[in-house]
Amino acid sequence: MVERVTSKRGAANDDSPVGQSGARRKSDKPQGGAHAAAKAGFDKKTIALVYDFDGTLSPKPMQEYTVLPALNMDPKLFWAESNRIAREQGADPLITYMHLMYKKAKEKGVRIDRDDLVQLGRDVELFPGVAEWFDEIATYVALRAESQGVVVRHYLVSSGLTEIIEGTAIYPRFHKVFASEYWFEAYDLPYPKRVITDTGKTQYLFRINKGIEDLGESINQHMPEDERPIPFSNMVYFGDGETDVPSMALMRKSGGHAVAVHTAGKARSKCVDLFRAGRVDFFAVADYRRGSELFKRTCLLIDRMLADIRIREEMWKLGRAIK
Ligand SMILES: [Mg+2]
Repeated sequence: MVERVTSKRGAANDDSPVGQSGARRKSDKPQGGAHAAAKAGFDKKTIALVYDFDGTLSPKPMQEYTVLPALNMDPKLFWAESNRIAREQGADPLITYMHLMYKKAKEKGVRIDRDDLVQLGRDVELFPGVAEWFDEIATYVALRAESQGVVVRHYLVSSGLTEIIEGTAIYPRFHKVFASEYWFEAYDLPYPKRVITDTGKTQYLFRINKGIEDLGESINQHMPEDERPIPFSNMVYFGDGETDVPSMALMRKSGGHAVAVHTAGKARSKCVDLFRAGRVDFFAVADYRRGSELFKRTCLLIDRMLADIRIREEMWKLGRAIK
């Protein structure tokens, strides 16, 4: 299968300090310039809000709004078959579904190229307030940030498909999207180029922490804590369940924050379990509108991070003064 048009990846970055929004810089440069920046001033002022996608920003798995309807497939039957094959073959469930999806498309004679996946992404439903969330958070931080130059970035770390996420209206709001992706030109059926598993997600949290966002660069080299551009204490991870446990555990163990969400009117037992186990600071209904419990609790975490940034900046200045 040949890709018709290669859409360039690379979400728009919004690195302007809060309060000066609108100045978007398009760059995928790694953020590792800690050495140079450290000379100019305290530079750990970036806050990263990191989101899972399916079940966190959107009620259902993204395939259920896009490819499965295009193939006229019942989601329950599809996932049941995919999970059964994965179990029987001892295969990774994500690779299995990525393969099965295109096997079904081929069987049905439906051609879905990269651009088609992007187009289908328009149909993905988002939880209430998600579209406005990014501006509301920017407004709140601008009101509260007393330290100059605080920047808020939004990241997506999803097992879902990059191509579908690209088609959603919120795609440009992310500084970077890390998600599974297909090769479209290498094989007859599209072949997984990158598969982000539950535990694999933690790699991307380290990439954000270390400023090594270029996937061509190795993440494994040691980097002292004080050189990492976004300390874990400046990060919040938003997820909806078991698949987020490794990410939430990493955040909490490393001084970061985590929030679990659940669909309104549906069981919140998973969130309660996560909360009781100390995996998350808070949980709330996935209502991203201003004034919701999720918004207020996120703002509390932002207040804590802003205070932390001010304290660490003051300590940094004191350290410089006594040299
Ligand atoms: Mg999820």
